[in-house]
Amino acid sequence: MIVGIDLGTTNSLCAVFQDGQPVIIPSSHGRSLTPSIVGVLDSGELLVGDAARDLRVTRPQHVASRFKRLMGTQETVSLHSKQLNAAELSSLVLKSLKQDAEAYLGEDVTDAVITVPAYFNELQRRATKLAGELAGLRVNRIINEPTAAALAYGFHDRDAEKNLLVIDLGGGTFDVTMMEVFEGTLEIIASAGESTLGGEDFTDRLLGHVLQTMQMHLESAEIRLPLMVSRLRDECERAKRQLGNVEQIDIRIPEDDGHFAESPRTVSITTALFSEIVQPLLERVRRPIARVLRDAGLSPDQVEDVILVGGATRMPVLKTCVREIFDQEPLCTHNPDEVVALGAAIQAALLSNDEAVQDIVMTDVCPFTLGVEITKHIGGHDVEGFFLPIIHRNTTLPVSAEEIVSTVRANQREVVIRVYQGEHRKIEGNLSLGELRVTGIPPAPAGVPIRIRFTYDLNGLLEVEALVDSTGRKFSTVLTNHAQHLSKKEIEDAVSKLQDLKFYPRDEVENQQLLRFSERVLGEISPQERQAFEEIIDSFEIAMASGDPSYFQQVRAFLLERLSELGFPHDSGEGSAE
Ligand code: ADP
Ligand code: MG
Repeated sequence: MIVGIDLGTTNSLCAVFQDGQPVIIPSSHGRSLTPSIVGVLDSGELLVGDAARDLRVTRPQHVASRFKRLMGTQETVSLHSKQLNAAELSSLVLKSLKQDAEAYLGEDVTDAVITVPAYFNELQRRATKLAGELAGLRVNRIINEPTAAALAYGFHDRDAEKNLLVIDLGGGTFDVTMMEVFEGTLEIIASAGESTLGGEDFTDRLLGHVLQTMQMHLESAEIRLPLMVSRLRDECERAKRQLGNVEQIDIRIPEDDGHFAESPRTVSITTALFSEIVQPLLERVRRPIARVLRDAGLSPDQVEDVILVGGATRMPVLKTCVREIFDQEPLCTHNPDEVVALGAAIQAALLSNDEAVQDIVMTDVCPFTLGVEITKHIGGHDVEGFFLPIIHRNTTLPVSAEEIVSTVRANQREVVIRVYQGEHRKIEGNLSLGELRVTGIPPAPAGVPIRIRFTYDLNGLLEVEALVDSTGRKFSTVLTNHAQHLSKKEIEDAVSKLQDLKFYPRDEVENQQLLRFSERVLGEISPQERQAFEEIIDSFEIAMASGDPSYFQQVRAFLLERLSELGFPHDSGEGSAE
Protein backbone atom coordinates (compact mmCIF):
# COMPACT_ATOMS: atom_id res chain seq x y z
CA MET A 1 0.00 0.00 0.00
CA ILE A 2 1.45 3.36 -1.03
CA VAL A 3 0.08 6.39 0.79
CA GLY A 4 -0.07 9.91 -0.63
CA ILE A 5 1.27 12.67 1.60
CA ASP A 6 0.90 16.42 1.31
CA LEU A 7 3.76 17.69 3.47
CA GLY A 8 2.73 21.30 3.88
CA THR A 9 4.33 24.34 5.49
CA THR A 10 1.35 24.76 7.75
CA ASN A 11 -0.61 21.54 7.53
CA SER A 12 0.14 18.04 6.36
CA LEU A 13 -2.27 15.33 5.27
CA CYS A 14 -2.18 11.72 4.32
CA ALA A 15 -4.52 9.98 1.89
CA VAL A 16 -4.86 6.53 0.45
CA PHE A 17 -6.53 5.05 -2.61
CA GLN A 18 -9.23 2.61 -1.55
CA ASP A 19 -12.03 0.96 -3.51
CA GLY A 20 -11.47 3.11 -6.54
CA GLN A 21 -11.43 6.41 -4.63
CA PRO A 22 -8.84 8.56 -2.86
CA VAL A 23 -9.72 9.06 0.81
CA ILE A 24 -8.19 11.22 3.51
CA ILE A 25 -6.80 9.40 6.54
CA PRO A 26 -7.89 11.04 9.79
CA SER A 27 -5.28 12.05 12.37
CA SER A 28 -5.36 10.65 15.89
CA HIS A 29 -7.66 13.56 16.76
CA GLY A 30 -10.07 12.54 14.05
CA ARG A 31 -9.20 15.52 11.84
CA SER A 32 -7.91 15.51 8.32
CA LEU A 33 -5.20 18.14 8.87
CA THR A 34 -2.12 17.62 10.99
CA PRO A 35 -0.48 21.00 11.68
CA SER A 36 3.19 20.76 10.55
CA ILE A 37 4.36 21.71 14.02
CA VAL A 38 6.71 19.84 16.33
CA GLY A 39 6.92 20.51 20.05
CA VAL A 40 9.02 19.06 22.82
CA LEU A 41 7.80 18.82 26.40
CA ASP A 42 10.10 19.27 29.41
CA SER A 43 10.08 15.50 29.78
CA GLY A 44 11.74 15.30 26.37
CA GLU A 45 8.70 13.81 24.74
CA LEU A 46 7.55 14.91 21.34
CA LEU A 47 4.23 16.34 20.32
CA VAL A 48 3.30 16.68 16.67
CA GLY A 49 0.28 18.42 15.18
CA ASP A 50 -2.64 19.92 17.07
CA ALA A 51 -1.14 19.52 20.53
CA ALA A 52 2.09 21.14 19.39
CA ARG A 53 0.12 24.01 17.88
CA ASP A 54 -1.52 24.74 21.22
CA LEU A 55 1.87 24.51 22.90
CA ARG A 56 3.16 27.13 20.47
CA VAL A 57 0.87 29.76 21.95
CA THR A 58 1.86 29.13 25.55
CA ARG A 59 5.50 28.05 25.09
CA PRO A 60 6.74 29.24 21.70
CA GLN A 61 10.37 28.35 22.49
CA HIS A 62 9.47 24.67 22.78
CA VAL A 63 7.99 24.50 19.35
CA ALA A 64 9.20 24.48 15.75
CA SER A 65 6.91 25.40 12.88
CA ARG A 66 7.12 26.66 9.28
CA PHE A 67 10.32 24.66 8.82
CA LYS A 68 9.41 23.71 5.28
CA ARG A 69 10.77 27.13 4.35
CA LEU A 70 14.21 25.96 5.43
CA MET A 71 14.05 22.75 3.45
CA GLY A 72 17.22 22.11 1.49
CA THR A 73 19.32 24.46 3.60
CA GLN A 74 21.72 23.69 6.43
CA GLU A 75 19.88 25.98 8.80
CA THR A 76 18.77 24.38 12.03
CA VAL A 77 16.15 25.12 14.64
CA SER A 78 16.97 24.59 18.26
CA LEU A 79 14.42 22.48 20.02
CA HIS A 80 14.96 21.25 23.56
CA SER A 81 18.75 21.30 23.37
CA LYS A 82 18.73 19.62 19.98
CA GLN A 83 19.61 21.29 16.72
CA LEU A 84 17.34 19.95 14.02
CA ASN A 85 17.24 20.83 10.35
CA ALA A 86 14.13 21.02 8.19
CA ALA A 87 14.45 17.48 6.87
CA GLU A 88 14.71 16.10 10.39
CA LEU A 89 11.77 18.14 11.67
CA SER A 90 9.72 17.14 8.63
CA SER A 91 10.55 13.52 9.26
CA LEU A 92 8.84 13.81 12.64
CA VAL A 93 5.67 15.09 10.98
CA LEU A 94 5.88 12.28 8.42
CA LYS A 95 6.34 9.73 11.18
CA SER A 96 3.23 10.97 12.89
CA LEU A 97 1.26 10.69 9.62
CA LYS A 98 2.70 7.24 9.10
CA GLN A 99 1.51 6.15 12.53
CA ASP A 100 -1.96 7.55 11.89
CA ALA A 101 -2.11 5.73 8.56
CA GLU A 102 -1.02 2.48 10.18
CA ALA A 103 -3.68 2.83 12.87
CA TYR A 104 -6.32 3.57 10.22
CA LEU A 105 -5.34 0.86 7.75
CA GLY A 106 -4.34 -1.75 10.31
CA GLU A 107 -1.15 -2.56 8.45
CA ASP A 108 2.43 -1.35 8.16
CA VAL A 109 2.92 1.62 5.89
CA THR A 110 6.31 1.58 4.19
CA ASP A 111 5.84 3.47 0.92
CA ALA A 112 4.75 6.97 0.09
CA VAL A 113 4.29 9.54 -2.61
CA ILE A 114 5.18 12.95 -1.18
CA THR A 115 4.24 16.25 -2.75
CA VAL A 116 6.41 19.37 -3.01
CA PRO A 117 5.74 22.84 -4.42
CA ALA A 118 6.47 22.84 -8.16
CA TYR A 119 8.96 25.56 -7.53
CA PHE A 120 11.01 23.49 -5.09
CA ASN A 121 14.54 23.26 -6.36
CA GLU A 122 16.69 20.19 -6.57
CA LEU A 123 18.05 20.53 -3.02
CA GLN A 124 14.63 21.02 -1.53
CA ARG A 125 13.34 17.92 -3.30
CA ARG A 126 16.22 15.84 -2.06
CA ALA A 127 15.71 17.09 1.48
CA THR A 128 12.05 16.06 1.22
CA LYS A 129 13.02 12.61 0.06
CA LEU A 130 15.50 12.38 2.91
CA ALA A 131 12.79 13.38 5.40
CA GLY A 132 10.74 10.43 4.15
CA GLU A 133 13.65 8.07 4.58
CA LEU A 134 14.31 9.34 8.10
CA ALA A 135 10.68 8.61 8.91
CA GLY A 136 11.09 5.05 7.70
CA LEU A 137 9.27 5.58 4.41
CA ARG A 138 10.38 4.55 0.97
CA VAL A 139 9.60 7.58 -1.17
CA ASN A 140 8.33 6.12 -4.44
CA ARG A 141 7.78 9.45 -6.07
CA ILE A 142 8.07 13.14 -5.34
CA ILE A 143 5.34 14.99 -7.23
CA ASN A 144 4.48 18.63 -7.61
CA GLU A 145 1.62 19.84 -5.45
CA PRO A 146 -0.30 21.58 -8.26
CA THR A 147 0.10 18.47 -10.39
CA ALA A 148 -1.44 16.46 -7.59
CA ALA A 149 -4.26 18.97 -7.30
CA ALA A 150 -4.91 18.84 -11.01
CA LEU A 151 -4.87 15.06 -10.85
CA ALA A 152 -7.59 15.15 -8.22
CA TYR A 153 -9.71 17.44 -10.42
CA GLY A 154 -8.90 15.47 -13.56
CA PHE A 155 -9.83 12.19 -11.85
CA HIS A 156 -13.36 13.41 -11.31
CA ASP A 157 -13.69 15.17 -14.64
CA ARG A 158 -12.05 12.72 -17.01
CA ASP A 159 -13.98 13.40 -20.17
CA ALA A 160 -13.30 17.10 -20.07
CA GLU A 161 -11.28 18.82 -22.72
CA LYS A 162 -9.93 22.06 -21.38
CA ASN A 163 -7.18 24.29 -20.06
CA LEU A 164 -7.02 24.31 -16.28
CA LEU A 165 -5.06 26.71 -14.15
CA VAL A 166 -4.25 25.61 -10.61
CA ILE A 167 -3.51 28.38 -8.13
CA ASP A 168 -2.16 27.09 -4.82
CA LEU A 169 -1.58 29.55 -2.01
CA GLY A 170 -0.64 27.66 1.13
CA GLY A 171 0.89 28.86 4.36
CA GLY A 172 4.33 29.61 2.97
CA THR A 173 4.46 28.79 -0.70
CA PHE A 174 2.73 29.88 -3.86
CA ASP A 175 2.41 27.85 -7.03
CA VAL A 176 0.69 28.38 -10.35
CA THR A 177 0.33 25.63 -12.93
CA MET A 178 -1.29 25.55 -16.34
CA MET A 179 -2.47 22.21 -17.60
CA GLU A 180 -4.44 20.72 -20.40
CA VAL A 181 -6.91 17.90 -19.89
CA PHE A 182 -7.78 15.83 -22.90
CA GLU A 183 -9.54 12.45 -22.82
CA GLY A 184 -7.98 11.39 -19.54
CA THR A 185 -4.57 12.74 -20.42
CA LEU A 186 -3.32 15.44 -18.09
CA GLU A 187 -0.53 17.45 -19.53
CA ILE A 188 1.28 20.09 -17.53
CA ILE A 189 2.09 22.97 -19.85
CA ALA A 190 3.81 25.44 -17.60
CA SER A 191 4.35 26.21 -13.97
CA ALA A 192 5.79 29.02 -11.88
CA GLY A 193 5.62 30.25 -8.35
CA GLU A 194 7.35 31.72 -5.38
CA SER A 195 8.79 29.63 -2.60
CA THR A 196 8.50 32.34 0.02
CA LEU A 197 4.97 33.65 -0.33
CA GLY A 198 1.95 32.30 1.51
CA GLY A 199 -0.98 32.90 3.82
CA GLU A 200 1.38 33.40 6.76
CA ASP A 201 2.75 36.51 5.05
CA PHE A 202 -0.75 37.96 5.07
CA THR A 203 -0.98 37.25 8.80
CA ASP A 204 2.48 38.75 9.36
CA ARG A 205 1.59 41.91 7.45
CA LEU A 206 -1.48 42.36 9.59
CA LEU A 207 0.52 41.60 12.73
CA GLY A 208 3.20 44.07 11.66
CA HIS A 209 0.54 46.71 11.10
CA VAL A 210 -1.06 46.17 14.51
CA LEU A 211 2.35 46.30 16.21
CA GLN A 212 3.14 49.46 14.30
CA THR A 213 0.08 51.17 15.76
CA MET A 214 1.67 50.33 19.11
CA GLN A 215 5.05 51.76 18.00
CA MET A 216 6.61 48.31 17.84
CA HIS A 217 8.48 46.30 15.24
CA LEU A 218 7.75 42.64 14.63
CA GLU A 219 11.35 41.41 14.84
CA SER A 220 12.27 43.19 18.04
CA ALA A 221 8.90 42.56 19.70
CA GLU A 222 9.24 38.86 18.95
CA ILE A 223 12.51 38.76 20.87
CA ARG A 224 11.40 40.98 23.71
CA LEU A 225 7.82 39.78 24.18
CA PRO A 226 7.51 36.34 22.59
CA LEU A 227 4.35 35.35 24.44
CA MET A 228 2.58 38.59 23.62
CA VAL A 229 3.53 38.27 19.96
CA SER A 230 2.52 34.61 19.65
CA ARG A 231 -0.88 35.35 21.17
CA LEU A 232 -1.32 38.45 19.01
CA ARG A 233 -0.37 36.48 15.90
CA ASP A 234 -3.15 34.09 16.81
CA GLU A 235 -5.58 37.01 17.01
CA CYS A 236 -4.39 38.32 13.62
CA GLU A 237 -4.76 34.87 12.09
CA ARG A 238 -8.35 34.76 13.29
CA ALA A 239 -9.01 38.26 11.99
CA LYS A 240 -7.49 37.44 8.61
CA ARG A 241 -9.89 34.54 8.19
CA GLN A 242 -12.89 36.74 8.86
CA LEU A 243 -11.97 39.94 7.02
CA GLY A 244 -13.85 40.08 3.77
CA ASN A 245 -16.73 38.12 5.23
CA VAL A 246 -17.25 40.84 7.82
CA GLU A 247 -16.67 44.55 7.21
CA GLN A 248 -14.58 45.18 10.27
CA ILE A 249 -12.97 43.33 13.13
CA ASP A 250 -11.49 44.30 16.49
CA ILE A 251 -8.15 42.70 17.26
CA ARG A 252 -7.57 42.29 20.97
CA ILE A 253 -4.14 43.26 22.27
CA PRO A 254 -2.71 40.88 24.87
CA GLU A 255 -0.70 42.06 27.86
CA ASP A 256 3.09 41.80 27.72
CA ASP A 257 2.96 38.36 29.37
CA GLY A 258 0.58 37.07 26.69
CA HIS A 259 -2.62 37.10 28.74
CA PHE A 260 -5.70 39.10 27.93
CA ALA A 261 -6.81 41.67 30.46
CA GLU A 262 -10.45 41.79 31.59
CA SER A 263 -11.27 44.33 28.89
CA PRO A 264 -8.28 44.33 26.56
CA ARG A 265 -7.28 47.20 24.32
CA THR A 266 -8.34 46.61 20.72
CA VAL A 267 -7.20 47.72 17.28
CA SER A 268 -9.90 47.94 14.68
CA ILE A 269 -9.23 46.72 11.13
CA THR A 270 -11.61 47.13 8.21
CA THR A 271 -11.64 44.92 5.14
CA ALA A 272 -10.61 47.92 3.04
CA LEU A 273 -7.60 48.59 5.27
CA PHE A 274 -6.61 44.91 5.22
CA SER A 275 -6.75 44.89 1.45
CA GLU A 276 -4.49 47.94 1.37
CA ILE A 277 -2.01 46.38 3.83
CA VAL A 278 -1.68 43.22 1.72
CA GLN A 279 -1.56 44.92 -1.71
CA PRO A 280 2.21 44.28 -2.11
CA LEU A 281 1.55 40.57 -1.50
CA LEU A 282 -1.25 40.49 -4.08
CA GLU A 283 1.16 42.06 -6.57
CA ARG A 284 3.47 39.12 -5.96
CA VAL A 285 0.55 36.78 -6.57
CA ARG A 286 -0.07 38.32 -9.98
CA ARG A 287 3.48 37.90 -11.31
CA PRO A 288 3.74 34.10 -11.52
CA ILE A 289 0.21 33.96 -12.95
CA ALA A 290 1.26 36.31 -15.74
CA ARG A 291 4.42 34.31 -16.34
CA VAL A 292 2.60 31.00 -16.65
CA LEU A 293 0.12 32.49 -19.10
CA ARG A 294 3.03 33.87 -21.11
CA ASP A 295 4.94 30.57 -21.06
CA ALA A 296 1.82 28.69 -22.12
CA GLY A 297 1.05 31.24 -24.82
CA LEU A 298 -2.48 31.71 -23.51
CA SER A 299 -4.52 34.74 -22.65
CA PRO A 300 -6.64 34.83 -19.48
CA ASP A 301 -9.86 34.23 -21.43
CA GLN A 302 -8.46 30.99 -22.88
CA VAL A 303 -8.38 29.42 -19.43
CA GLU A 304 -11.57 27.41 -18.95
CA ASP A 305 -11.26 26.59 -15.25
CA VAL A 306 -9.32 28.32 -12.51
CA ILE A 307 -8.87 25.97 -9.57
CA LEU A 308 -8.09 27.28 -6.11
CA VAL A 309 -6.00 25.13 -3.80
CA GLY A 310 -4.49 25.82 -0.36
CA GLY A 311 -6.06 27.28 2.76
CA ALA A 312 -5.07 30.85 1.96
CA THR A 313 -7.18 30.90 -1.22
CA ARG A 314 -10.17 31.12 1.12
CA MET A 315 -9.32 34.79 1.65
CA PRO A 316 -11.87 36.97 -0.13
CA VAL A 317 -9.10 39.44 -1.14
CA LEU A 318 -7.36 36.63 -3.01
CA LYS A 319 -10.54 35.48 -4.74
CA THR A 320 -11.21 39.06 -5.83
CA CYS A 321 -7.71 39.34 -7.24
CA VAL A 322 -8.15 36.11 -9.26
CA ARG A 323 -11.60 37.16 -10.45
CA GLU A 324 -10.12 40.43 -11.73
CA ILE A 325 -7.44 38.67 -13.76
CA PHE A 326 -9.65 36.02 -15.35
CA ASP A 327 -13.02 37.67 -15.34
CA GLN A 328 -14.55 34.43 -14.05
CA GLU A 329 -15.47 32.79 -10.80
CA PRO A 330 -12.68 30.44 -9.61
CA LEU A 331 -13.56 26.81 -8.88
CA CYS A 332 -13.27 25.33 -5.44
CA THR A 333 -15.44 22.24 -5.75
CA HIS A 334 -12.96 20.16 -3.76
CA ASN A 335 -11.88 21.09 -0.28
CA PRO A 336 -8.81 23.29 -0.91
CA ASP A 337 -7.03 21.76 2.08
CA GLU A 338 -7.43 18.17 0.94
CA VAL A 339 -7.08 18.21 -2.80
CA VAL A 340 -3.26 17.88 -2.92
CA ALA A 341 -3.21 14.83 -0.64
CA LEU A 342 -6.05 13.25 -2.63
CA GLY A 343 -4.06 13.78 -5.82
CA ALA A 344 -0.99 12.21 -4.20
CA ALA A 345 -3.11 9.13 -3.40
CA ILE A 346 -4.20 8.99 -7.06
CA GLN A 347 -0.54 9.15 -8.07
CA ALA A 348 0.11 6.28 -5.66
CA ALA A 349 -2.69 4.34 -7.39
CA LEU A 350 -1.07 5.06 -10.77
CA LEU A 351 2.20 3.66 -9.45
CA SER A 352 0.52 0.50 -8.21
CA ASN A 353 -1.38 0.11 -11.49
CA ASP A 354 -4.76 0.28 -9.84
CA GLU A 355 -7.53 -0.57 -12.31
CA ALA A 356 -9.57 2.48 -11.34
CA VAL A 357 -6.95 4.81 -12.83
CA GLN A 358 -5.97 2.80 -15.90
CA ASP A 359 -7.30 5.38 -18.31
CA ILE A 360 -5.36 8.27 -16.76
CA VAL A 361 -2.06 9.39 -18.23
CA MET A 362 -0.04 12.10 -16.56
CA THR A 363 2.82 14.16 -17.86
CA ASP A 364 4.73 16.74 -15.88
CA VAL A 365 7.32 19.39 -16.64
CA CYS A 366 10.63 20.49 -15.23
CA PRO A 367 9.70 23.79 -13.58
CA PHE A 368 13.07 25.54 -14.00
CA THR A 369 16.03 25.71 -16.34
CA LEU A 370 19.03 23.50 -15.59
CA GLY A 371 22.47 24.06 -17.03
CA VAL A 372 26.19 24.53 -16.49
CA GLU A 373 28.71 27.32 -16.15
CA ILE A 374 30.68 28.20 -19.25
CA THR A 375 33.43 30.62 -20.15
CA LYS A 376 32.81 32.92 -23.09
CA HIS A 377 35.42 34.40 -25.33
CA ILE A 378 34.52 38.07 -25.54
CA GLY A 379 36.66 40.80 -27.12
CA GLY A 380 39.80 38.69 -26.90
CA HIS A 381 39.26 37.74 -23.26
CA ASP A 382 37.96 34.65 -21.56
CA VAL A 383 35.10 35.67 -19.29
CA GLU A 384 33.84 33.14 -16.77
CA GLY A 385 30.48 32.87 -15.11
CA PHE A 386 28.02 32.47 -17.96
CA PHE A 387 25.13 30.03 -17.79
CA LEU A 388 24.51 27.52 -20.55
CA PRO A 389 20.98 26.05 -20.29
CA ILE A 390 20.76 22.32 -21.03
CA ILE A 391 17.20 21.54 -20.00
CA HIS A 392 14.86 24.48 -20.49
CA ARG A 393 12.09 25.26 -18.07
CA ASN A 394 8.71 23.68 -18.75
CA THR A 395 10.20 20.82 -20.77
CA THR A 396 8.06 17.69 -20.45
CA LEU A 397 9.46 14.98 -18.16
CA PRO A 398 11.26 12.63 -18.21
CA VAL A 399 13.87 14.34 -20.35
CA SER A 400 17.44 13.74 -21.37
CA ALA A 401 19.32 16.55 -23.13
CA GLU A 402 22.87 17.12 -24.27
CA GLU A 403 25.15 20.06 -24.93
CA ILE A 404 28.78 20.07 -25.96
CA VAL A 405 31.29 22.24 -24.14
CA SER A 406 35.01 22.27 -24.70
CA THR A 407 38.32 22.90 -22.99
CA VAL A 408 39.47 26.51 -23.08
CA ARG A 409 43.21 26.05 -22.74
CA ALA A 410 45.80 23.97 -24.58
CA ASN A 411 46.72 20.78 -22.69
CA GLN A 412 43.92 21.24 -20.22
CA ARG A 413 43.72 17.91 -18.35
CA GLU A 414 40.74 18.60 -16.18
CA VAL A 415 37.39 20.38 -16.36
CA VAL A 416 35.03 21.05 -13.48
CA ILE A 417 31.43 21.04 -14.63
CA ARG A 418 29.44 23.31 -12.31
CA VAL A 419 25.73 22.68 -12.38
CA TYR A 420 23.18 25.43 -11.80
CA GLN A 421 19.46 25.89 -11.78
CA GLY A 422 17.74 29.15 -12.63
CA GLU A 423 16.75 31.61 -15.30
CA HIS A 424 19.64 34.08 -15.17
CA ARG A 425 22.14 34.59 -17.96
CA LYS A 426 24.98 34.49 -15.46
CA ILE A 427 25.56 31.85 -12.83
CA GLU A 428 25.75 34.32 -9.96
CA GLY A 429 21.98 34.78 -10.24
CA ASN A 430 21.29 31.05 -10.23
CA LEU A 431 21.35 28.29 -7.65
CA SER A 432 24.41 26.07 -7.48
CA LEU A 433 23.50 22.39 -7.41
CA GLY A 434 26.93 20.84 -7.32
CA GLU A 435 29.78 19.90 -9.60
CA LEU A 436 31.29 17.11 -11.59
CA ARG A 437 35.04 16.77 -12.08
CA VAL A 438 36.13 15.45 -15.45
CA THR A 439 39.74 14.26 -15.40
CA GLY A 440 42.25 12.50 -17.61
CA ILE A 441 41.69 14.59 -20.71
CA PRO A 442 44.55 13.79 -23.15
CA PRO A 443 46.92 16.64 -24.01
CA ALA A 444 45.56 18.55 -27.00
CA PRO A 445 44.98 22.09 -28.22
CA ALA A 446 42.06 23.97 -26.64
CA GLY A 447 38.64 22.89 -27.83
CA VAL A 448 38.50 19.22 -26.79
CA PRO A 449 34.77 18.49 -26.85
CA ILE A 450 33.04 17.22 -23.73
CA ARG A 451 29.49 16.02 -24.07
CA ILE A 452 27.31 16.87 -21.08
CA ARG A 453 24.08 14.99 -20.66
CA PHE A 454 21.39 15.93 -18.15
CA THR A 455 18.68 13.44 -17.34
CA TYR A 456 15.79 14.66 -15.27
CA ASP A 457 13.42 11.96 -14.16
CA LEU A 458 9.77 12.00 -13.08
CA ASN A 459 10.87 12.42 -9.48
CA GLY A 460 12.46 15.69 -10.38
CA LEU A 461 15.90 14.33 -9.60
CA LEU A 462 18.79 15.24 -11.81
CA GLU A 463 21.56 13.03 -13.11
CA VAL A 464 24.56 14.60 -14.80
CA GLU A 465 26.91 12.75 -17.14
CA ALA A 466 29.99 13.96 -18.96
CA LEU A 467 31.65 12.12 -21.80
CA VAL A 468 35.05 12.85 -23.28
CA ASP A 469 34.69 11.36 -26.76
CA SER A 470 38.41 11.23 -27.48
CA THR A 471 39.00 8.92 -24.52
CA GLY A 472 35.58 7.32 -24.25
CA ARG A 473 35.70 8.03 -20.53
CA LYS A 474 32.39 8.69 -18.89
CA PHE A 475 31.80 10.55 -15.65
CA SER A 476 28.52 10.79 -13.87
CA THR A 477 27.08 12.18 -10.70
CA VAL A 478 24.83 12.45 -8.21
CA LEU A 479 26.01 15.87 -7.16
CA THR A 480 27.96 15.23 -4.02
CA ASN A 481 29.03 18.49 -2.52
CA HIS A 482 25.77 19.06 -0.72
CA ALA A 483 24.92 17.58 2.64
CA GLN A 484 21.46 16.61 1.38
CA HIS A 485 23.18 13.76 -0.27
CA LEU A 486 23.88 11.52 2.68
CA SER A 487 25.56 8.17 2.70
CA LYS A 488 23.81 5.18 4.22
CA LYS A 489 25.87 5.57 7.37
CA GLU A 490 25.01 9.25 7.66
CA ILE A 491 21.33 8.46 7.31
CA GLU A 492 21.64 5.86 10.07
CA ASP A 493 23.32 8.43 12.31
CA ALA A 494 20.58 10.94 11.64
CA VAL A 495 17.94 8.32 12.42
CA SER A 496 19.56 7.44 15.73
CA LYS A 497 19.87 11.10 16.67
CA LEU A 498 16.12 11.39 16.22
CA GLN A 499 15.47 8.17 18.05
CA ASP A 500 15.96 9.60 21.52
CA LEU A 501 13.17 12.05 20.82
CA LYS A 502 10.25 9.88 21.90
CA PHE A 503 6.81 10.23 20.45
CA TYR A 504 4.04 10.61 22.96
CA PRO A 505 2.21 7.29 23.37
CA ARG A 506 -0.56 7.30 20.80
CA ASP A 507 -3.38 6.53 23.20
CA GLU A 508 -2.39 9.53 25.29
CA VAL A 509 -2.02 12.01 22.47
CA GLU A 510 -5.59 13.13 22.79
CA ASN A 511 -5.26 13.90 26.49
CA GLN A 512 -2.03 15.77 25.84
CA GLN A 513 -3.86 17.85 23.32
CA LEU A 514 -6.69 18.56 25.74
CA LEU A 515 -4.13 19.65 28.32
CA ARG A 516 -2.37 22.01 25.87
CA PHE A 517 -5.68 23.33 24.63
CA SER A 518 -6.78 24.09 28.19
CA GLU A 519 -3.50 25.83 28.96
CA ARG A 520 -4.04 27.96 25.93
CA VAL A 521 -7.58 28.86 26.97
CA LEU A 522 -6.15 29.99 30.30
CA GLY A 523 -4.70 33.04 28.61
CA GLU A 524 -8.05 33.94 27.07
CA ILE A 525 -10.25 34.07 30.13
CA SER A 526 -10.66 36.75 32.74
CA PRO A 527 -8.42 36.86 35.82
CA GLN A 528 -11.47 36.00 37.99
CA GLU A 529 -12.15 32.79 36.10
CA ARG A 530 -8.50 32.01 35.76
CA GLN A 531 -7.61 30.72 39.18
CA ALA A 532 -10.46 28.24 39.47
CA PHE A 533 -9.81 26.98 35.96
CA GLU A 534 -6.11 26.61 36.61
CA GLU A 535 -6.93 24.30 39.51
CA ILE A 536 -9.03 22.11 37.23
CA ILE A 537 -6.11 21.86 34.78
CA ASP A 538 -3.79 20.92 37.65
CA SER A 539 -6.19 18.17 38.73
CA PHE A 540 -6.39 16.92 35.17
CA GLU A 541 -2.63 16.69 34.89
CA ILE A 542 -2.40 14.83 38.20
CA ALA A 543 -5.28 12.52 37.22
CA MET A 544 -3.48 11.69 33.97
CA ALA A 545 -0.54 10.41 35.94
CA SER A 546 -2.64 8.71 38.66
CA GLY A 547 -3.29 5.52 36.71
CA ASP A 548 -6.83 5.42 38.09
CA PRO A 549 -9.10 5.27 35.02
CA SER A 550 -12.43 6.01 36.67
CA TYR A 551 -11.05 9.00 38.60
CA PHE A 552 -9.36 10.24 35.44
CA GLN A 553 -12.57 9.98 33.38
CA GLN A 554 -14.41 11.97 36.03
CA VAL A 555 -11.86 14.78 36.03
CA ARG A 556 -11.70 14.78 32.25
CA ALA A 557 -15.47 15.10 31.94
CA PHE A 558 -15.41 17.95 34.42
CA LEU A 559 -12.69 19.76 32.47
CA LEU A 560 -14.59 19.37 29.19
CA GLU A 561 -17.75 20.70 30.81
CA ARG A 562 -15.94 23.71 32.24
CA LEU A 563 -14.35 24.44 28.86
CA SER A 564 -17.81 24.51 27.27
CA GLU A 565 -19.14 26.82 29.95
CA LEU A 566 -16.23 29.19 29.35
CA GLY A 567 -17.10 29.27 25.66
CA PHE A 568 -14.26 27.06 24.42
CA PRO A 569 -15.80 23.67 23.67
CA HIS A 570 -12.96 21.27 22.96
CA ASP A 571 -14.57 18.79 20.57
CA SER A 572 -15.28 21.50 18.00
CA GLY A 573 -11.59 21.24 17.18
CA GLU A 574 -11.18 24.46 15.27
CA GLY A 575 -12.81 26.06 18.35
CA SER A 576 -12.63 29.67 19.34
CA ALA A 577 -9.18 29.36 20.85
CA GLU A 578 -7.94 28.74 17.30
P1 ADP B 1 0.35 24.54 3.39
O1 ADP B 1 0.05 23.87 2.11
O2 ADP B 1 1.44 25.54 3.26
O3 ADP B 1 0.53 23.64 4.53
P2 ADP B 1 -2.45 25.18 3.72
O4 ADP B 1 -2.95 24.93 2.36
O5 ADP B 1 -2.86 24.27 4.79
O6 ADP B 1 -0.90 25.42 3.75
O7 ADP B 1 -2.87 26.67 4.07
C1 ADP B 1 -2.49 27.26 5.26
C2 ADP B 1 -2.75 28.73 5.17
O8 ADP B 1 -4.13 28.92 4.89
C3 ADP B 1 -2.46 29.45 6.45
O9 ADP B 1 -1.68 30.59 6.17
C4 ADP B 1 -3.83 29.83 6.97
O10 ADP B 1 -3.79 31.07 7.62
C5 ADP B 1 -4.63 29.94 5.71
N1 ADP B 1 -6.06 29.71 5.91
C6 ADP B 1 -6.68 28.59 6.33
N2 ADP B 1 -8.01 28.77 6.42
C7 ADP B 1 -8.24 30.04 6.05
C8 ADP B 1 -9.42 30.86 5.92
N3 ADP B 1 -10.61 30.39 6.22
N4 ADP B 1 -9.25 32.14 5.51
C9 ADP B 1 -8.04 32.63 5.22
N5 ADP B 1 -6.89 31.93 5.31
C10 ADP B 1 -7.00 30.66 5.72
MG1 MG C 1 -0.21 22.95 0.49
